[in-house]
Amino acid sequence: MTDSTDQSDPAELAALRDTVRGLMPRLRTDLEALTRIPSVSLPAFDQSHVDASAEATAALLRAEGLEVEIVREGGAPAVIGHIDGPDGAPTVMLYAHHDVQPPGDDADWDSAPFEPTERDGRLYGRGAADDKAGIMAHIAALRAHAGQLPVGVTVFVEGEEEVGSDSLMTILERHGDKLEADAIVLADSTNWDIGTPALTTTLRGLIRVVVTVTTLDHGVHSGMFGGAVPDAITALVRLIATLHDDEGNVAVTGLRSGEAADLEFSEERLREESGLLDGVSTIGSGSLLSRMWTKPSLTTIGINAPSVEKSSNTLVPTASAKLSMRIAADEVPTDAFVALEKHLLENAPWGAKVEITLDDQGAGFAADASGPVYDQARAAFADAWGKEPVDIGVGGSIPFVAAFAERFPDAAILVTGVEDPDTRAHGANESLHLGEFEKVCVAEAVLFARLGSMRRS
Ligand SMILES: [Zn+2]
Repeated sequence: MTDSTDQSDPAELAALRDTVRGLMPRLRTDLEALTRIPSVSLPAFDQSHVDASAEATAALLRAEGLEVEIVREGGAPAVIGHIDGPDGAPTVMLYAHHDVQPPGDDADWDSAPFEPTERDGRLYGRGAADDKAGIMAHIAALRAHAGQLPVGVTVFVEGEEEVGSDSLMTILERHGDKLEADAIVLADSTNWDIGTPALTTTLRGLIRVVVTVTTLDHGVHSGMFGGAVPDAITALVRLIATLHDDEGNVAVTGLRSGEAADLEFSEERLREESGLLDGVSTIGSGSLLSRMWTKPSLTTIGINAPSVEKSSNTLVPTASAKLSMRIAADEVPTDAFVALEKHLLENAPWGAKVEITLDDQGAGFAADASGPVYDQARAAFADAWGKEPVDIGVGGSIPFVAAFAERFPDAAILVTGVEDPDTRAHGANESLHLGEFEKVCVAEAVLFARLGSMRRS
């Protein structure tokens, strides 16, 4: 594509903003209807609701003139819709997901999770933000340009994001050609705070391993042999202790690490958001955001060893731990696994036998956050908020982002979102900030117009 204009016409912008404002009541009604469908994709829940949310999503897209199909490739139903744009106009692919997390305990909610309720400018409900508001932001942009779309639009709404997108690779294999686009908008992340839009440009990847340490071929009496013979739990704990240096930085050598954008994030805010106890220090060095977004981290998430209740005076012969390592966005997961494996083998205390198995791995994502599509996206955000967007990272993994980056290497990938720091996605009292949501809708509508001003070269 070539860049034709990056000047926005103030009158056109004001008109689009007014159009979106006028659309908000109906968008809200449709969002509430979607939120009332308890489309929890966890298998223990009634999956007919996931079917119902796919149908409801399909109906919303059909009403905007899209050709729509519901596809299922061994997992939950996904919705694919398409509508052509003018000749020569670029195509935008819009992603969201229609499944939701389980509500948890109803008693933790101030209003019923599947009965959307407004309080203080926020709409409360499971999925009211994550990610049914993502679906509605796409609908908003389509409605804002109804009858005169400046771009071709393909919409892909997945039904199993909250359970790990298991059939996504198969869907991309079998239906990927329908999803080809010049720009991809993945609306499932967050903005920086109320009033400050953000593009998520890095996501960390993940390596999970189980390490088993064995020192004896059977358990023996700790009184008879203790002092001369090592037990496996102590050996395992010593091995785990080598994974960080004294400051708390990951001590595994050969891992990549980057720097986060220079944004204000105080230790006070970290303590408040994480519940870190007074007197307990943070770990690692460098800015807090780089520690959480762009550097590796390593956590022991489980240990197999006799429980305190079932313990006896025995030198335990074998013990294992599950380690979860977050890796830098541009790290190759298999390289990180090899580095971790090497570290664990080389640091085995007292010659203990160490076995490592890879439990799970996922690539991170580092956007090439430059070029004409990113320029237009940043301008669209600035148009909508009156403030330039910031580049943020996310410390966790969003596996589908890497899947799209791999399948569509030539498309510009924008990770946007409807959330803000108070959204509590996945938690009790999940909510959407309605004022910010309108800006999200304006930004996407403006993005369509801006991308439409670009032509394929
Ligand atoms: Zn989500």
